[in-house]
Amino acid sequence: MIVYGRYIATLDQVNRVISRGAVVVRDGIIIDVGEEEDIRGRYEAEEVIERRDHVVIPGFVDCHTHTQQYLLRSAINDEMLQLPPVWTKVLVPFERIMGEDLARLSSRASIINMLKNGITYFVEAGAPYPEILAEEVLASGIKGVVTYATYDIAEEKIAEPEEVLRKVKKLYSEYGSSRANLRVWASLRQVMMVSEELMEGVIKFSREHGLGLTLHLGEYQGEVDYTLAKYGLRPLEYLIERGISEIKPVVIAHGVYFSPRETRMLKEHGLGLCWCPSVDSWLMGIHWVGLTDIENLKLGVGSDGGAWGRIDLLHEAKVAKALSRAASTSITYYKAGLDSNTLLKMLTGSTGSLVGEKIGRLEKGYAADMIVLNTKDLRNLPIHNPVDTIINYLEGDEVTDVIVNGKLVVENGKVKTLNEEKVLEELLDREEEIKEKFAELAKQLKTKP
Ligand SMILES: [Zn+2]
Repeated sequence: MIVYGRYIATLDQVNRVISRGAVVVRDGIIIDVGEEEDIRGRYEAEEVIERRDHVVIPGFVDCHTHTQQYLLRSAINDEMLQLPPVWTKVLVPFERIMGEDLARLSSRASIINMLKNGITYFVEAGAPYPEILAEEVLASGIKGVVTYATYDIAEEKIAEPEEVLRKVKKLYSEYGSSRANLRVWASLRQVMMVSEELMEGVIKFSREHGLGLTLHLGEYQGEVDYTLAKYGLRPLEYLIERGISEIKPVVIAHGVYFSPRETRMLKEHGLGLCWCPSVDSWLMGIHWVGLTDIENLKLGVGSDGGAWGRIDLLHEAKVAKALSRAASTSITYYKAGLDSNTLLKMLTGSTGSLVGEKIGRLEKGYAADMIVLNTKDLRNLPIHNPVDTIINYLEGDEVTDVIVNGKLVVENGKVKTLNEEKVLEELLDREEEIKEKFAELAKQLKTKP
């Protein structure tokens, strides 16, 4: 396959942007990147994708999502957010009452949404029905990390640790063998939602089988007070003591309430951080990312799932830039914040290092995960600097084509592997049923749905 574009933003070592360039792919791997004329002279391809008015960039990594919370779109109103924490009051209970059919619909809708917005790789924070998600990942062609919703405490103890651990192991034994686009990792929902026994079991299992791990951490003050009161340690200090730094890779979501010492520990132990700019701002506060030297920090951007927005990492990049600049300017009067190149790399999970894979660069030897964005629209022109255009102007709507492992999964805005119209119809058909389920749940809260 050869993909031609007006610009190719490679995100390689020197951030090369090639004007009138091309990317050559064989067996799912990039074998060459260069100027159009040169490539035309040297290669012939079975599949040629000509995009004259477009930029070609590596696919995005959504490093923190909840594919089975999609049906909560616009359900959580501003009043409900006054009853913290929203995850134990609304998100987790909804996952528990959803049922298999809706879990499938939710997974499908999430994957279609992600693909249309140029996300080629995602990390699920913990699905209540991970087998259903795994099947949908395989069918869709997206690269997905699937994990089981791993916790044994909600507001109170709700399950036996061995029972939960058994489900983690079952998922791995059924879907853990290597496949082109499906990965199975372990997860921990949250330090306050996991017993010591379950945590120990999950960490041990991950280490023994070489599974990655993802978890929520540093989400709110109550959690910091909880680990300080119980163990005399802050959340990340406690987890490092329990051995998570021996797992590779680790992706920690949020981390808003990390101390300067904990942020240093992230770098020292090579732990990844997934910043969710919109949701962190809504629920937690201003993130320290914009105020810190992030060199050598494995950093990515997450959506936190479809319950909060359109799962659009290009939109998240704009929120991230504004937030980091505001924090930096008002606190240190250092008018830097995060620049477009850094942000674009973050959207690909620090060019893949966050998830420990050879993705996130258009360079020989890297996986052929790339996306094409339309720039020929008055709202996007003229282009003085393609990377600034991408970060400051383009949103997910401009994604026209998505290629994962060298396969065209979205062509001219249409998902080829899943039937979007059918999913759309089912969603509309079942809207009342979904709303009724949510109303049941909301009745128990001290607020109106
Ligand atoms: Zn989350």
